[in-house]
Amino acid sequence: TDQSTRELLLSRIRDVADYPKPGVVFKDITPLLADPKAFTALTEALAETCVRHGATKIIGLEARGFILAAPVAVRAGVGFIPVRKAGKLPGATLAQAYELEYGTAEIEVHAEDLEAGDRVLVIDDVLATGGTAEASLELVRRAGADVVGVAVLMELAFLKGRERLEPALHGAPLEAL
Ligand code: AMP
Repeated sequence: TDQSTRELLLSRIRDVADYPKPGVVFKDITPLLADPKAFTALTEALAETCVRHGATKIIGLEARGFILAAPVAVRAGVGFIPVRKAGKLPGATLAQAYELEYGTAEIEVHAEDLEAGDRVLVIDDVLATGGTAEASLELVRRAGADVVGVAVLMELAFLKGRERLEPALHGAPLEAL
């Protein structure tokens, strides 16, 4: 992405202090979604990433990852696959638990949505600790598919999610716009 696009995107992300709890700065993308020029620029940048890596399927991580990944999938002409919090998908699933700061969480994907030979790009809005993205990569691999990359709008570098994600990437890139 060029400098002017990066500046446009950054200008449409709102920092909300102490949300959802004290000490957290929440990165709110709703101003970006409400601006068609910014949302289109983001969609095109992510679609370019998808095409550049030869992805054949895009995973969006619930919930804001869905909003970003769905138009990218349409633009790039590849399938969209939702990875959801446990208990939301009606069909047979693969499930992956992962560690949070306090406790654990679990995500799922429909088993029939991924197969050997698929080249998967994972999309989300924010990479924080990297736990969610890491678990999604485990799901892709357990399904026998290949990860071609993880693409996020923002990386909160101070949380060191990139380091946590590194082993699960198997050399695939993590791209933060
Ligand atoms: P993590 O598993 O810690 O990388 O958290 C990633 C998920 O939590 C992403 O789906 C983000 O949407 C959300 N998230 C974590 N921290 C923030 C933050 N400071 N602002 C907005 N979303 C966040």
